[in-house]
Amino acid sequence: QPKSNMSTQKAVQISRTGGTEVLEINQIPIPKPQPGHILVKAAYAGVNFIDTYFRTGLYPAPLPFTLGSEGSGTVEAVGEGVTKYKPGEHVVYYGSGSYTEYLNVPEKAISHIPEGLKLEDGAAILIQGLTALTMLRESYEVKKGDTILIHAAAGGTGLVLVQLAKALGATVIATASSAEKLELARQHGADYLVNYSGGEDEWVKEVLGHTKDGEGVEAVYDGVGKATFEGDLKVTKRKGSLISFGNASGAVDPFRINRLGDKNLKLLRPRLFGYVATQEEFDHYTQELFGYIENNQLKVNIHKIYPLEDIVQAHKDLEGRVTTGKLVLKV
Ligand code: NDP
Repeated sequence: QPKSNMSTQKAVQISRTGGTEVLEINQIPIPKPQPGHILVKAAYAGVNFIDTYFRTGLYPAPLPFTLGSEGSGTVEAVGEGVTKYKPGEHVVYYGSGSYTEYLNVPEKAISHIPEGLKLEDGAAILIQGLTALTMLRESYEVKKGDTILIHAAAGGTGLVLVQLAKALGATVIATASSAEKLELARQHGADYLVNYSGGEDEWVKEVLGHTKDGEGVEAVYDGVGKATFEGDLKVTKRKGSLISFGNASGAVDPFRINRLGDKNLKLLRPRLFGYVATQEEFDHYTQELFGYIENNQLKVNIHKIYPLEDIVQAHKDLEGRVTTGKLVLKV
């Protein structure tokens, strides 16, 4: 049982979908530890673009719904059958409903925080780090010497993609909407910088100009979605891979698969949870991810830590394209 005497806790919830006006801070019961779960007292929650999709209804969720997808904190208690975790230990985890003070996390979605990693950095890195890593390993396996394109490269996922792609030996073309954002991508290892706010014709030409004989890139990593998808088809090399993994500008329009035949392209639409579905997969990729941090090949970039009460501002900033790196809530 939680040590505090209080039986309720704060949680950011929605009871209808919409703009930031639908965000509510409610009191909900503190849960009891469930079998196979770890009850965590949260310190921080990561803010991810996916949280805005649940808020707007782009991704449907049962209402009322507690937002948030990951966090870090301290083990408060463990459920039946859990032996690897003890009260007081620091942990990072992913799981629905992390914009709250206490939550139950299944054992296959939690890890001890590595020595030397701060709790706020733990909450900042798990989802975006695992997303970037699994896509670079499995959606298209990046090899030394490949040239790849990373869109929204100064964003949370983008900056991790850039750093890990460099660690794996790729040449990285990075896009973003401003010179400041591109400079940040450069500082994290990007080789070529393209401002895509000038429109598709322009960025497509620039990207192709950075590839061998103008033939295009081996792979495109695109979390922007609707606004960049058509251009992606143009800059992906024959037999290349187009990995469309998000909808920051809106969902990609329906697409005739025959069009892939023009260049025998591979089109993927991966979700992280399809790559880290089992305990083995989660442990494997989490350990690999933490290894890059320990080896100084991956830096965690926190844009800002917001108090939980400022959740409206956090969502506004993320959707308003004014952030770089990761947004974190102090719970
Ligand atoms: P980011 O920090 O990358 O923020 C989104 C960025 O997208 C903005 O900073 C902005 O950069 C760019 N962008 C382009 N067009 C728009 C637009 N119209 N409105 C808002 N932003 C726009 O967010 P995350 O790292 O949290 O997520 C990035 C993407 O990765 C999202 O699409 C998310 O859904 C996806 N994702 C997918 C996962 C999966 O499992 N498939 C898991 C994790 C994330 P700029 O100003 O430079 O254009």
